[in-house]
Amino acid sequence: MQIAVLSGKGGTGKTTVSTNLAKLINVRYIDCDVEEPNGFIFLKPEGIKSQEVSIPVPYVDEDKCTHCKKCIDICQFNALVHTNKVILFEKLCHGCGACRAVCPTMAITEKDRPIGKIEVGYNGDMECLGGTLNVTEPMAGPIISKLKSMIDDKTTILDCSPGSSCNVVKPLLGVDYAVLVTEPTEFGLHDLKIAVELVRKMDIPFGVVINRLSQEDNTTSRYLKDENINIVGTIPFDRNIAVMYSKGELLINDDKYKKLFTDITHNIEEAIGCSL
Ligand code: SF4
Ligand code: SF4
Repeated sequence: MQIAVLSGKGGTGKTTVSTNLAKLINVRYIDCDVEEPNGFIFLKPEGIKSQEVSIPVPYVDEDKCTHCKKCIDICQFNALVHTNKVILFEKLCHGCGACRAVCPTMAITEKDRPIGKIEVGYNGDMECLGGTLNVTEPMAGPIISKLKSMIDDKTTILDCSPGSSCNVVKPLLGVDYAVLVTEPTEFGLHDLKIAVELVRKMDIPFGVVINRLSQEDNTTSRYLKDENINIVGTIPFDRNIAVMYSKGELLINDDKYKKLFTDITHNIEEAIGCSL
């Protein structure tokens, strides 16, 4: 069972929901927000083992190159240009291997280019995985793919990147349920609608958690009602929550908030028709 937690925009409480849920039900947690991972701040895994993530980029042997430019033509990402020789713009290269495949003289070999790392550690017996993209690297995809390749049958909570880019689509592939976290503001609603459109297009069952709710009757609640979208939980606007967050504490450590996440868990279980 894979459950993705996402939000249309950053700062809505996506990591709060995913880390607390994962710890409460004691399942694997994966921080797929590799550009700004912060799940480990709350879960504090120990015994962390780190692994570099690289992508294969082409290396051209000038002695073998006949300057046919077939590699330039095949590259969908404009990572190669030809002046008096073939030049690679490394950060545009997706490591797809197409240029190597079409080179008639086998002038292209590949070398690994590090783009980031993944880390695995444990909070008790709970497995915590996360990825970090190196600063200035543009491509999070290979790190997210590496993290996803480590998923097995065990129930897993995936903490996705904010927004609705390919960095969100990738973790969503193959998930069984999505939790969309939003806040009851005009901006929050705007981004929630985009996230709803995304999960609907991907045919993923989903429910919404409204975070920082200060009043029941708001435009978000009305939108969700009109769209017949299931609200699986609400988290109140509460200064104490902000304080706990700023200290890197899990909300489930406080019984008052633990109940909120127990309710969210039950509502998700009801939606998916099995226990987590
Ligand atoms: S590996 Fe793919 S993306 Fe990179 S230069 Fe070759 S064709 Fe372009
Ligand atoms: S395809 Fe091979 S031979 Fe042709 S330009 Fe590229 S590296 Fe050179």
